Amino acid sequence: MQYFDVIIVGAGIAGMTAGIYVKRAGLSVLIVEKTVHGGQIINTLNIENWPGDLGVSGADLANKIYGQVSELGVEVKYEEVETMNEISGKKGFRVKTDENEYSCGAIILAMGTEPRRLSEKQTADAGKRAISYCATCDGALYKDKPVVVVGSGNTAKHEIRYLENIASKVYHIHHDDPIPKDAEAVFVAIGRVPNTKVAKDLVDINSEGYIVAEEDCKTSRAGVFVAGDCRTKKVRQLVTAAGDGAIAAEAAIDYLAKK
Ligand SMILES: Cc1cc2nc3c(=O)[nH]c(=O)nc-3n(C[C@H](O)[C@H](O)[C@H](O)COP(=O)(O)OP(=O)(O)OC[C@H]3O[C@@H](n4cnc5c(N)ncnc54)[C@H](O)[C@@H]3O)c2cc1C
Repeated sequence: MQYFDVIIVGAGIAGMTAGIYVKRAGLSVLIVEKTVHGGQIINTLNIENWPGDLGVSGADLANKIYGQVSELGVEVKYEEVETMNEISGKKGFRVKTDENEYSCGAIILAMGTEPRRLSEKQTADAGKRAISYCATCDGALYKDKPVVVVGSGNTAKHEIRYLENIASKVYHIHHDDPIPKDAEAVFVAIGRVPNTKVAKDLVDINSEGYIVAEEDCKTSRAGVFVAGDCRTKKVRQLVTAAGDGAIAAEAAIDYLAKK
């Protein structure tokens, strides 16, 4: 079983920032990512609040940070973490993915959030029609066709505005309303949920699914740290994810030094 000083789960902005800090401290580090590096920001076309880069796209920002991660020699594996356990006698942790098993001295959890899924009722109602969680990604497929947006927050409003320039008609409905018969695709914007089920036996998670930790990014278990949107916090943004990445990395480095 390959050993790393620190394993980071998730290559979003939090996870990649943590990787940069751990690597620069001279420790061995592995980032495990189940989809693509960059996380939830990659489909955003225009970010205006990332300091130093007015109007950067999410994909460009993610690739820039990934370039830095690669240049520094941080190892990244595209695998899904399935289980994490503490090795008895506090000898570190075992991390099992869909392809491999690793061991490590400390873990940084940076799994972020994912879109809340359509209810069972609306999924059944949608039948064989396409269900999308990203108008920017899939909207163009429905040029001059009727579509429906489900949701009532700012993201739903954004999706409606985007689709109005493409589709022949954009219906707007709320969670659990019936889906209009002629809509050819269902765009879902009903919020996000933390990606934390994989850590439920390892650390404390609150009733909304967020991993419980203060600004020091320390979880209920020594040696396990959390960074980014999957942590209990007030502001979920790119800069706070990056800030958490640095804090969690420094805490992990300190933990290993004291051990
Ligand atoms: C549409 C949209 C627009 C936004 N616009 C802005 C903006 O303009 N400015 C701003 O500051 N913020 C914006 N945000 C918020 C910002 O994107 C987030 O705060 C930030 O990306 C969180 O980063 P993160 O690394 O914590 O999590 P994420 O980006 O969610 O990354 C988590 C990563 O972990 C991976 N992962 C999850 N579970 C596992 C597992 N079991 N095994 C392996 N990998 C796993 C995921 O695949 C993902 O890549 C926006 C968010 C959205 C959805």
